[in-house]
Amino acid sequence: MLLTNNLGYPRVGAFRELKKANEAYWAKKISADELLEVGVNLRKENWETQRSAGIDLIPSNDFSFYDQILDLTLTVGAIPARYQSLLDKADRKYNLDLYFAMARGFQEDGVDVTAMEMTKWFDTNYHYLVPEFVKDQEFSLTSEKFLHEYEEAKTLGFETKPVLVGPITYLLLGKEKETGFDRIDLIDRLLPVYEGILSKLASAGAQYVQIDEPFLTLDIDQKTQDLYKRVYARLAKVSDQLKLIVTTYFEALSNNEETALNLPVHALHLDLVRGENQLDTVLPKVPQSLILSLGVVEGRNIWKNDYEKSLTQIAQAVEVLGKDRVWVGPSSSLLHVPFDLDNEDNEESLPKEVKNWLAFAKQKLQEIKDLATLANGDVDEKTKQRFEANKLAAENRRTSTLIHKPAVKQRVSNITDNDAKRTSVFALRKAAQQAKFNLPAFATTTIGSFPQTKDVRKWRADLKKGKITQEEYDKEIAEETERTIRLQEDLDIDVLVHGEFERNDMVEYFGEQLAGYAFTKNGWVQSYGSRCVKPPIIYGDVYRPADMTVRWSAYAQSLTERPVKGMLTGPVTILQWSFVRNDQPRETTTYQIALAILDEVQSLEKAGIKIIQIDEPAIREGLPLRKADQKKYLNWAVRAFRVSSSNVEDDTQIHTHMCYSEFNDVIEDIAAMDADVITIETSRSQMELLEAFAGDFKYPNDIGPGVYDIHSPRVPSTEEMVNLLRKAKEVVPAEQLWVNPDCGLKTRAWPETKAALESMVEAAKILRAD
Ligand code: GLN
Ligand code: ZN
Repeated sequence: MLLTNNLGYPRVGAFRELKKANEAYWAKKISADELLEVGVNLRKENWETQRSAGIDLIPSNDFSFYDQILDLTLTVGAIPARYQSLLDKADRKYNLDLYFAMARGFQEDGVDVTAMEMTKWFDTNYHYLVPEFVKDQEFSLTSEKFLHEYEEAKTLGFETKPVLVGPITYLLLGKEKETGFDRIDLIDRLLPVYEGILSKLASAGAQYVQIDEPFLTLDIDQKTQDLYKRVYARLAKVSDQLKLIVTTYFEALSNNEETALNLPVHALHLDLVRGENQLDTVLPKVPQSLILSLGVVEGRNIWKNDYEKSLTQIAQAVEVLGKDRVWVGPSSSLLHVPFDLDNEDNEESLPKEVKNWLAFAKQKLQEIKDLATLANGDVDEKTKQRFEANKLAAENRRTSTLIHKPAVKQRVSNITDNDAKRTSVFALRKAAQQAKFNLPAFATTTIGSFPQTKDVRKWRADLKKGKITQEEYDKEIAEETERTIRLQEDLDIDVLVHGEFERNDMVEYFGEQLAGYAFTKNGWVQSYGSRCVKPPIIYGDVYRPADMTVRWSAYAQSLTERPVKGMLTGPVTILQWSFVRNDQPRETTTYQIALAILDEVQSLEKAGIKIIQIDEPAIREGLPLRKADQKKYLNWAVRAFRVSSSNVEDDTQIHTHMCYSEFNDVIEDIAAMDADVITIETSRSQMELLEAFAGDFKYPNDIGPGVYDIHSPRVPSTEEMVNLLRKAKEVVPAEQLWVNPDCGLKTRAWPETKAALESMVEAAKILRAD
């Protein structure tokens, strides 16, 4: 019999209960016990949901108050030294103060410590807290959360499968905080802790343990492959009673197939969505005793499963392995999808027909169960009906006129190389633009948004609730925009912005105005800790029915003689921060968005907005996990940006903006975007940025290295910025340099914003005088 195997379930609650409880606890509005109670309830509900859906292997220890890697860091006792004073105070089994100090920093009772660094979980939008290792790193079993949760479930009557991130993946996810060692060599100190964990679970009666090793789908060297063999040989020895399941996801095993398949474990999980065809090569190599868990239901997107397709994959495995050695599950943990489609009832933003193509976490459990039932062959009436409904939905999606717009598809296939190239080379454009704008050296500008104060957010909320009329709202926005224009004039900034007060979010704002987009009311997905996002859904061919930004940009321009920059979000970022359709390549969807953005660029141009910024902060995070796939991605991502920005006059100045400084490895691709000006974040490390520009490759166009960090309320001194600019001048010719903050100012308050910009303009003037 095929079993159903779930890898992990979303934990923030259908209505973000966990976020609200965490924030209440941080604000000291609820006690630690009250917070812990919220956790108990969320876990219980999740286990019940999964059991009633008919899941055989239900995970535990997939819950976390903040992040599962942080939990593991506490479990193995890799607590950085700066938290020692909090550790000494630790008295309860779940030491929340220490835990949240590591997550968010701590400033109280004379203690002042920074948080651990956060970074993206593989190529998802989830962020984990990066483990920090020192040369003499020691590990010891410090928290037994895994055991408490297993036992808690057991008491409630659920036999669960505890989930752990594996030791090799854990080490590889971390960072060395000192030189002179390689963190992977810490494995022999870490292994005893894992052995301890497993033997505790065995004593408690656990039958299965899931160990996640997603690094088995990445580019790993021979040494790491050998390590996998050695480590799992040891872990397998801990207990005869425990059945270990090694879980891989986010890519195919590819060159790690031999290694993964020969680990001495009970079952191996494969991602058959990202690694769609890997069964062909995997099946002939599966050893006698190994069970394969097939990740056929996508764990990180919201589309209904195509039952017929999945059943073909399952049948292929069953034919070789038999029904007892095949399990059915999601491709990855369901952490990356929203809770429950049944909580969506707004037909205006999510039409019924579109809703019928979707499945959130709860619906995916049903899909997993249905697929197992269908593959087992003993099919009840209800499952039969759902199978028929599934086929109908798939058929409807293939032909729906809501999705398929022949004119949009035609336009994408008509894109030529000329459409992806400015008419003239940069030098000629620069001359034309200089003639038009006559900007000084070290021209000053900002990245787009100005403070989104309580008032601004209230106007938006009031408009949504119908508390104020559209006219009243527009009047407020107009006045705030005008004040911002006057302020920038007073500050003597050269290229102004309108301030983005009318925007909630840089992707949602455009998604709401593009055809082919749907929105959820409760489609929350955890991004990190208490932060959740509600990605819009691209379900159909995308086009722009009407102007999106012209009104406010043109209004702002009408108020001043100085140039006002139009503000757009780029095609790759719009794609990257949405749930993307899976019925055509991402590349095609990106080109559709690129053409919609181009239409907007041309409308702005016609309205007299001659400087236009197209933000692409997400271009780098779309990079595929495997090196071999990266070049192809960069080629189409860069080309899509060029399509969105090329069919314009020479004297129209295109800016782009990116929020990171680690682009040494992709700098040639960023240069190939051929924006006239790029503004970038440099706050984390000024040196890193300058290194990128000091190398052999000379960045050809204009560049504005962020001269101050907008992520902190701290006001930088003029002198600091002058120093940074002088350093920049040593590696980038002065004629190429712009002066700007390193990102948008929407999270800042007005006083520090004014003070910082004043110093910034002063710094630019000092540089001009040099
Ligand atoms: N123009 C946007 C802003 O200023 C850019 C935001 C971003 O880079 N993430 O807010
Ligand atoms: Zn930014």
